[in-house]
Amino acid sequence: MKDTFKHQGLRQQLVNVLKTKGITNTNVLKAVGKIPRHLFMDSSFLDHAYQDKAFPIAADQTISQPYTVAFQSELLEITPGHTVLEIGTGSGYQTAVLCELGARVYSIERQQELFKKTSKFLPKLGYRAKHLIFGDGYKGLPEQAPFDSIIVTAGAPFVPKPLLSQLKHDGGRLVIPVGDSGKAQIMTLFIRKGPKSFEQYEFGEFKFVPLLEDKN
Ligand code: SAH
Repeated sequence: MKDTFKHQGLRQQLVNVLKTKGITNTNVLKAVGKIPRHLFMDSSFLDHAYQDKAFPIAADQTISQPYTVAFQSELLEITPGHTVLEIGTGSGYQTAVLCELGARVYSIERQQELFKKTSKFLPKLGYRAKHLIFGDGYKGLPEQAPFDSIIVTAGAPFVPKPLLSQLKHDGGRLVIPVGDSGKAQIMTLFIRKGPKSFEQYEFGEFKFVPLLEDKN
């Protein structure tokens, strides 16, 4: 688990790439500059870890493109102490970004292999999510709701109602890529304004692995 000057230099270049692509939140940029992304990937991909690209991880899943991670993180508008639910723990990279932003993070993963691997790995890097959960993200986490924000890191064919209902009423934010698998998804932000009122904004096309129905 080495983090060399070379890695650190490549990370700074990645931060600059994200800036030129329009990421402005300094805390998000700092997090990307700090987190050793190469350690979240299989070793054969080490050389590619600081390109702005998604890459395969275990169980046929991907670690999201850094730009996508930064874009979604920015939309969450996290301040320290916020309670955040992540759907799709995957490699744990996005989870680490949320921890760096000072969030109390709950994260759900439905692939047992990834759940086990990432549960062991994150604490080794010093990232302590409040709770990593093996389960189905479509249901959210009612026992810990309401959340300041919820981030979905897989492409959802529709917006799961439980996620909307688990947002805080006064400004809770859901960031979710919506669209059928095989196609691009539309990055969508919901802001809760009251028990039944939500504002909705769309931010263009992104490509994610699909949010799969419960298999357990
Ligand atoms: N945030 C991750 C992205 C991983 S890809 C990272 O940066 O590495 C999306 C993840 O969502 C995969 O790990 C996949 O197994 C998971 N996933 C898919 N459907 C899910 C569901 N219904 N509930 C929870 N996780 C799910």
